[in-house]
Amino acid sequence: MSTLVDKDKEEVTEYFNNNGFERWNKIYSESDEVNDVQRDIRTGHGQTIDKVLRWVEEDGSAKSVFCDAGCGVGSLSIPLARLGAKVASSDISAAMTGEAEERAKAELGRDAKRISFTTSDLENLTGSYDTVLCIDVMIHYPTEKMSDMVSKLCSMSKNRVILSFAPDTWYYSLLKKIGELFPGPSKTTRAYLHTEEAVRKALAAEGFAIKRTEMTSTNFYYSRMLEAVRE
Ligand code: SAM
Repeated sequence: MSTLVDKDKEEVTEYFNNNGFERWNKIYSESDEVNDVQRDIRTGHGQTIDKVLRWVEEDGSAKSVFCDAGCGVGSLSIPLARLGAKVASSDISAAMTGEAEERAKAELGRDAKRISFTTSDLENLTGSYDTVLCIDVMIHYPTEKMSDMVSKLCSMSKNRVILSFAPDTWYYSLLKKIGELFPGPSKTTRAYLHTEEAVRKALAAEGFAIKRTEMTSTNFYYSRMLEAVRE
């Protein structure tokens, strides 16, 4: 693993255990203590979550075994468990998994036991799952590490991988550059965009074919989502 990647991971872990946790825990909730940008990101992220749940309901795959890698505060794991799924949820940040566990207990009661929570970097995960989910995590992965990350996700999947990323197109690159020129108080960790072509290539190299795609964009949130199934 290169020094750059180690440094990125340290930064991400530190961020999501401290300021990032405070910030994202509010965004991923119904709290009124958010600004307009954060509210917009909440809306966009909510749409992405709804799209995953719709896919799962459409093909009747809810009552299967999922891995939610980089689960955050459980925004996807919890509604999935409510649909009957068994979910192995993990995140690099202990603050995130702690909050996710609290929310699961509060929202699911006895059904919270359908979710197991682990604090772990996704590289160190093990196990085999019907579906591996990785939503809005790839933004923390430098370009040169993206295909290893996709390969790791595929290696844990029996049938399907659903992942999302901020797409590297001229338009979004420009938006990101503008954001970097005016970072303001919401400046977070480094953010990496990925080309769809490179992500598709990484999935194909592991024997996965694209089945469904989605794009969610609001003013400040943009996320391309791919569902890939084992061929
Ligand atoms: N997937 C969740 C969702 O959509 O609600 C959370 C998305 S949040 C933007 C990104 C999450 O990825 C954070 O909780 C962060 O701690 C986690 N993360 C970042 N790098 C990670 C890594 N290498 N392994 C595991 N989790 C990671």
